Amino acid sequence: MKRLLALAFVAACVCGVRAQGPAVGKAADWGRLRPEILERYRALVQIDSTSGHETLVVDYLKKVLEAEGIPTKTLALNPARANLVARLKGNGSKRPLLILAHTDVVGVQREKWPVDPFGAVMKDGYIWGRGSKDDKPVLVANLMTMLMLKRQGVALDRDVIFLAESGEEADLEGVGINYVVREHFPEIDAEFAMTEGGGADIENGRVARVNIGTAEKVPARVRLVASGTAGHGSVPRLDNALIHLGAAVEKVGLWETPMRLNETTRTYFEKLAALSPPGRASIYKALLDPKTADGAQKFLREHAPGEYSMLRTSVVPTILKAGVGANVIPSEAEATLDIRALPDENIDAFYTELTKVIGDRAVKVERLPQTRPASPASKLGTEMYQAMERVAKTIYPDATVIPSMSTGASDMAQLRAKGIQSYGVGPASTDAEQLNYPAHGDVERLAESSLYPFVQYVWGVVMDVAARK
Ligand SMILES: [Zn+2]
Repeated sequence: MKRLLALAFVAACVCGVRAQGPAVGKAADWGRLRPEILERYRALVQIDSTSGHETLVVDYLKKVLEAEGIPTKTLALNPARANLVARLKGNGSKRPLLILAHTDVVGVQREKWPVDPFGAVMKDGYIWGRGSKDDKPVLVANLMTMLMLKRQGVALDRDVIFLAESGEEADLEGVGINYVVREHFPEIDAEFAMTEGGGADIENGRVARVNIGTAEKVPARVRLVASGTAGHGSVPRLDNALIHLGAAVEKVGLWETPMRLNETTRTYFEKLAALSPPGRASIYKALLDPKTADGAQKFLREHAPGEYSMLRTSVVPTILKAGVGANVIPSEAEATLDIRALPDENIDAFYTELTKVIGDRAVKVERLPQTRPASPASKLGTEMYQAMERVAKTIYPDATVIPSMSTGASDMAQLRAKGIQSYGVGPASTDAEQLNYPAHGDVERLAESSLYPFVQYVWGVVMDVAARK
């Protein structure tokens, strides 16, 4: 049943993208492009590009792009973990558009897979493989877009820059976006960027929502260190470091930090209020009214922790470390708090508040090194966002477009911190699919029927925002 619906969905979509004005020359012939999209996508999934092997993907992309006359540059801090950049020139009347995707995938436990995790096996309407969701759909969509722009000789108002970056999943060496931004920023400097970090939700066989990632929270982790007097386990002490730490962890773990909406989250909840069944809609409506927000927050805290987290800077205890023996009171005990700040949080003031909430001089708050820069939310009124909204409606005619703020972190943080308005996209999936076969899950797969509309979407957006008007 589900499969039939999914097929019907694709059939309805294939003709969705029309020529967008004179710049297109020939409209893309999606029927003929599908085998090529599938072949390239499968070729990418078949490359085992777990951390440390990203250059294998770069080699493939370089060969494909250069065979069609698109010059590439390899940017590498570590030769095994290269990045690749390619640029199609526009007339310079507008600033460039950057389309990027990461090439690395997380590791696999082979025994959990019913098929070869790097086989790109096609079974039951899905393409199975590590990276099939994260992030090779975006990578192939960007690649196909470059090839088609070049083949059709599309005249551009702005340069279109393609970036395939390493080390998104694990970048302790700083070989990926950190390196490119730090050492080669002019190669990727752009007005807008588009990459993973959004998606689309299929309900009853059709795409009901398209999520555009416009913001993300900022990791701002700390360590709590409690100090006390060391001693014998047979002698109770009031200054036992564990007691002080335990009390502090409880206080901050249950601390209801202030709720604050931004442009993205306000729009997100407004749209959800309009879309949801009456019961849930009333919760979202209540959230938007300061007089009733408290009750709605309480509901979300229990029933939708992800949405609750979108409302505030969150504090989550994740590691406890203390003790050397059952009969020894240690002089120190520590806890790690995974703090995810709202994009506009004043983090110094927040740490001051956190210290007050703990209210115990025996417990010190130490900042941990920041893994991502603070990054302002991207705006909803830009030419890019409007194009994404417009094109979403042509590819997924029944969908509502919703901006979203990720509670996690992505490589868009580095771009937004440099002033690039950055937006997240992703292929469509059902709730069940997201639950059972998520990115980074034991087994990853993508419905073939979601692949083609997604490539069309990326192409459509690039045409809308970059082709000569
Ligand atoms: Zn990813």
